[in-house]
Amino acid sequence: MKIRFILFVCLITCANGFSQSVQPSGMQVGMQVGIAKINITPNSPAFMTGYANRDKPSEGILHDLWAKALVLSNKEEKMIIVTTDLLGLSHQVSVEVAEKIQAKLGIERRQIMFNSSHTHSGPMIWPSLSVISEYSQADQKIVSEYTQVLVDKLVQVIVDAYAHQEPMQISVGHTSADFAINRRALAAQKNGINLPGPIDHDVPVLKFMKPSGEIKAVLFGYACHNTTLMGNNYLINGDYAGFAQIQIEKKIPSATAFFILGCAGDQNPEPRGTVELATKHGNNLADQVVTLVHSKELKPIKNELHSYFSTIPLKFKKVPAADYQKDLQSSDKFIQRRAKLMLEAYNKGWNTEIYSYPIQGIRLGNEFRMIALGGEVVVDYSLRTKKEFPGKNIFVAGYSNEVMCYIPSERVLKEGGYEADSSMIYYGMPGPFENGMEEKIMAAIYETLKKIK
Ligand SMILES: [Zn+2]
Repeated sequence: MKIRFILFVCLITCANGFSQSVQPSGMQVGMQVGIAKINITPNSPAFMTGYANRDKPSEGILHDLWAKALVLSNKEEKMIIVTTDLLGLSHQVSVEVAEKIQAKLGIERRQIMFNSSHTHSGPMIWPSLSVISEYSQADQKIVSEYTQVLVDKLVQVIVDAYAHQEPMQISVGHTSADFAINRRALAAQKNGINLPGPIDHDVPVLKFMKPSGEIKAVLFGYACHNTTLMGNNYLINGDYAGFAQIQIEKKIPSATAFFILGCAGDQNPEPRGTVELATKHGNNLADQVVTLVHSKELKPIKNELHSYFSTIPLKFKKVPAADYQKDLQSSDKFIQRRAKLMLEAYNKGWNTEIYSYPIQGIRLGNEFRMIALGGEVVVDYSLRTKKEFPGKNIFVAGYSNEVMCYIPSERVLKEGGYEADSSMIYYGMPGPFENGMEEKIMAAIYETLKKIK
């Protein structure tokens, strides 16, 4: 069982040329865009992830899961966005894919962004959340094999998109959807406690259109857990984001739909619990997106591309090894497993005090910026970034590049509870983060926005 605490972050050319041209219609065609998708549905039965109470593998497939790649390039710069209908990529997966793509295409780490929809009805990715499962060696082999196939498919889908670039006009706009609620506030309310319940219903939309007017891709984001279906569901599917992408591709058959998950750490869909509700939320989101795509409200994006990637050290609160020795006797099997993992890490001399946390920024023209944060980021980061950078048109994505644990704000860290503390057990992390993490992350967001200006 390998968990890394310190991360060492770290030919195909486009035949179409890169010149910016003006079409007879007067439409400016900015960038070269490549689009590809690949089916990543595991063979069922598969070990599913997201809920610790599941006690058997999947029993069927409701709809397929996809990895999709969007390549953007102009004369000076390239950027690749990869979306996946998965709970989250492990550090190992994103590093391996990025390294292979660097070797094949010369793409640097800052030029590739991964995002996962965080569906709780998808397969396990090794070694993420290994604490929630009682793996036999044979089980672990199955999960590892799926993970290795996934790495190969992610490389393949990027190479495919890279090989098929064509000139397109990109435009951006915003709409909203209202089914996300603050789940911490809702849970506290049930216990008679009042907690602040921030939400962010913003839905950014990017349209990618050929000079002929044909829409080839729609990228949209939303900050809400893909947890409409719960731990009693054993059918593989992408939850509301899966349904939304299917619906958009049905309504615009020439387009590939890309979903980017925002700062959804403390956001749940409501109501939840059935396939009907997941479909309803997905269709609701898709309808908003498609209406905007067909409207005249989208603003063209200029042919400019910038990106930046860095990592910052986030510190955990110190936990003495003796506490984990005690945890080995716990009646809670998850606490026991985490303790075992931590003691193994101590014995191997690994540094369990710091996590190297990834932060990335992308700018398209002056019209759209995306900050991509690792982990299950709570909504406070999105709201604060938008407030402190008015007029920059920023979307803050969570669940990007890797999903190592929850990323609470200072407020959430102080309030405590699942996202601040107990979830760290399931993620196999030493314990809660040290105070001051929000300021460190915000400082890195400032730095990133400065670098991509
Ligand atoms: Zn989550």
